[in-house]
Amino acid sequence: MTSNLSQFIKFLKEEISENQISSANTIDVIDPRDRLENKSEICVKPKNTQEISKILKLANKFIIPIIPIGGSTGLVGGQIASQSNHVTLSLEKLDTINFFKDSNLLYVQSGAILSNIKKLAINNGRLFPLSLASEGSCQIGGNLATNAGGLNVIKYGNVRDLCLGLEAVLPCGQIVSTMKPLKKNNMGFDLKNLLIGSEGTLGIITSTILKTFPIPKDPVSIFLSINNLADVLFVFEKISREFSERILAFELIKMTGIDFIEETGFTIKNPFNKKTNWKVLIEIDVNIGPINLGEIIENTFYDLLLENKIIEVFFATNINQRNEFWKIRELIPAANRKKGSICSNDISVPIEKIPEFINKLDNSIYLFSKDVLINCFGHIGDGNLHYNLFPRSENARIELEKNRKKLLNIINELVNKYSGSISAEHGIGRSKIKELYKFEDPGKLYMMKLIKNVVDPKNILNPGTIFY
Ligand SMILES: Cc1cc2nc3c(=O)[nH]c(=O)nc-3n(C[C@H](O)[C@H](O)[C@H](O)COP(=O)(O)OP(=O)(O)OC[C@H]3O[C@@H](n4cnc5c(N)ncnc54)[C@H](O)[C@@H]3O)c2cc1C
Repeated sequence: MTSNLSQFIKFLKEEISENQISSANTIDVIDPRDRLENKSEICVKPKNTQEISKILKLANKFIIPIIPIGGSTGLVGGQIASQSNHVTLSLEKLDTINFFKDSNLLYVQSGAILSNIKKLAINNGRLFPLSLASEGSCQIGGNLATNAGGLNVIKYGNVRDLCLGLEAVLPCGQIVSTMKPLKKNNMGFDLKNLLIGSEGTLGIITSTILKTFPIPKDPVSIFLSINNLADVLFVFEKISREFSERILAFELIKMTGIDFIEETGFTIKNPFNKKTNWKVLIEIDVNIGPINLGEIIENTFYDLLLENKIIEVFFATNINQRNEFWKIRELIPAANRKKGSICSNDISVPIEKIPEFINKLDNSIYLFSKDVLINCFGHIGDGNLHYNLFPRSENARIELEKNRKKLLNIINELVNKYSGSISAEHGIGRSKIKELYKFEDPGKLYMMKLIKNVVDPKNILNPGTIFY
């Protein structure tokens, strides 16, 4: 242990109780992609904002790198300490959740687990719509730090759009609060939106005010099989024109994804009889107020069937069937993990370009190697694709791993050509810094560095994430 670190711990013990300072193996710091390993040996577990302020003041004085950690479900390694003298700061003890009936707002501490927040909203007859397959473990602070997206962005936006107020602690220990339940607030800079998506590099998020929404009365899930991506886009554009705000989700699934689920031993009820390359899972809110569009929606899909734009269509008529449909979508990341990808990409391109983009990219990848199997899926309704590469056989894995960087480069270069983003919803973390500096606007990078240098001149907060 360095002398600075032992001094830090000595003074820390005067500020917080000794049992809040422990060895890092008392929490699960894992990389869901199994590529990075946590090197931090010490973990602190503050109980409130004031304690975080004291910890950061001391860390700033003794120049101790602090790595904030939520549920450790982040996919780009921002929560994984890269050195043994880095101290992990777990938010797990800040987990209070309150719902206020008069305003329909949630006041939540940052360590609250997303699924618990959603449950409390539902128990009060409201919806908190952020939906991620990791919702049983991820924390709202981690969601805000990464500006998480998920399944329902098409209707409700990213978590940024769901957040009305925020409290955070800066690296110097200063507490910053925008905890006002206001839609309109132009009192100076919008610091809430600067902190959201900053991945723990500018401040530690401690509390937030979240919006809730009416629970969709009668959402219908519709599962389609479609021959090609041009038809997927056609269907998306048609139903967007006709049902716009009622669309809650529009998810693209490649047949490979369903094969993976079955091959890795999960049990699903696959409704499809015919083999097509693509499936689409849609959710539409049928009832708004007294208007019920059930029949019109069904007829729209039967028309698409007659036009040959879709090959099969299934409507979930009860909650069990709906759960079976969504289970298929939600199992894709778990099956991918079991298969073990060569590289996983969270990208976005303009929606109207998706068919052309995927076809071009598939061709380039297959030109590079016939040993690659592509599993592409995603939230097509907001242009976000998860484009993951796997070896066709285990024998090909070693060779493809050697060419991982080249494969990544083919993908990122094409994303850039299409004015897309190399990180649509997972962030930059430690894994995508090179790509950020290669593809992001130099002026934006310049301003980001200026802000980081002013807010955190000693670079104690999450060093090695976003910035070199
Ligand atoms: C199966 C699976 C499915 C997923 N699906 C989606 C998806 O659909 N959409 C999506 O956007 N993401 C998805 N993710 C990624 C991940 O769940 C999100 O990034 C999530 O928001 C991370 O939250 P967390 O609490 O686990 O944060 P962590 O992983 O602990 O941390 C993530 C980053 O935030 C920082 N951080 C954490 N808490 C704080 C805080 N209180 N203050 C400041 N910084 C903090 C960390 O330092 C790190 O840089 C998925 C992950 C998995 C494993």
